[in-house]
Amino acid sequence: MNPSAAKETAATRLRLRITSAAESIVRSGHPWLFADSIHESNRDGQPGELAVIYDRKDRFLAVGLFDPDSPIRVRILHAGKPQTIDPAWWRARLEKTLAGRRDLFDAQTTGFRLIHGESDGWPGLVLDRYGTTLVLKIYTAAWLPRLDEILALLQEKIPCERIVLRLSRNLQPSAEKKFQALDGQILSGSTPDARVIFLENGIRFEADVLRGQKTGFFLDQRENRAEVGKLSRGKKVLNAFSFSGGFSVYAARGGAISVTDLDISAHALESAKRNFALNQNFPGVAACHHEIVQADAFAWLEKSAAKFDLVVLDPPSLARRAAEREGAIRADEKLNSLGIARLARDGILVAGSCSAHVPAAEFFDAVRRAAKKSGRRFSELKTLRHPPDHPVTFKEAEYLKVIYLKFRN
Ligand code: SAH
Repeated sequence: MNPSAAKETAATRLRLRITSAAESIVRSGHPWLFADSIHESNRDGQPGELAVIYDRKDRFLAVGLFDPDSPIRVRILHAGKPQTIDPAWWRARLEKTLAGRRDLFDAQTTGFRLIHGESDGWPGLVLDRYGTTLVLKIYTAAWLPRLDEILALLQEKIPCERIVLRLSRNLQPSAEKKFQALDGQILSGSTPDARVIFLENGIRFEADVLRGQKTGFFLDQRENRAEVGKLSRGKKVLNAFSFSGGFSVYAARGGAISVTDLDISAHALESAKRNFALNQNFPGVAACHHEIVQADAFAWLEKSAAKFDLVVLDPPSLARRAAEREGAIRADEKLNSLGIARLARDGILVAGSCSAHVPAAEFFDAVRRAAKKSGRRFSELKTLRHPPDHPVTFKEAEYLKVIYLKFRN
């Protein structure tokens, strides 16, 4: 038990009262309580301590993790009937989360998300598995004083060789100063090789778990990669914003004639080359012509005259905050117009957005507008949202959406 938790006696428990609007939001199961919704507090709170929220009639409403430095002041762990948050409670919660993953994947997929933050009941915490390596990524200082406790629980419940800690960028300075916690720190077990190898639908990929984006790989696009694999036979494929070539290796295995990885990062493209090398056992990958282009995708698409039968556009989030939403939708439309211009006759466009500030319906409409403006005939093949290891239980957590369009001329 960590010191701050030990101090949490009933007498000194942090107690909050909140606005009536926030009360109904919390009651409905939303996991965030913003600082400006708190109108009464019995004392100052420490990062990671439990805060108990009471309703207007002084009845228990919810309990959550306090973070004095975040506008999301409390991340709700439980709402409803009063509950004691003790080690048995944490153990039960982990067991429940892990049970939800049990039948999702077979032995051909060893890289997937075990804990997906708020929507799994672990606000601000992500746990990804890459083979025998676990990567714990945290997005709120509230977890820092609880690391030992969580670590012990993970070790008890999930057999693994090592656990790596990753910290969101905004947490890094204070995490080091106040908690001696470092991004990329090995919490238990041995230091991994620079890149951990794991399987996704039988394909071998590397993940830079110590320094890579997110936790080392974009596990959330697994279903779309598999879909692109099925659509690629005999095709020339462009994978824009390719990162480590995830979509491309699937396309090659699926029989693509050629695949072009386009990314601004030389580092990402080196990784794409290694991922192709790791999968030469597949005849499709061995036979596929693999090209890499290091460039800004917008600029390259604008000046290129090359034509492709299938174009994947999977840009990073184009809206970092809500105020950037409209600009992002315009950028999406522009990007997709550029992508469609590169499509050969009967080509397929696979367009994605990972921005939580751009609602799916608005993104899909922006892509359809770009398609209409091209003057070409097209039909919609499908849209895909979150995969089952990245569940979503509230609006702000919905970020991933992909639309597939097939052009008829
Ligand atoms: N599709 C990938 C994930 C893409 S992540 C997968 O399935 O794994 C977004 C990628 O876009 C990153 O690799 C980043 O380096 C790249 N990127 C960011 N801005 C870019 C730009 N302007 N032009 C090209 N690539 C860019």
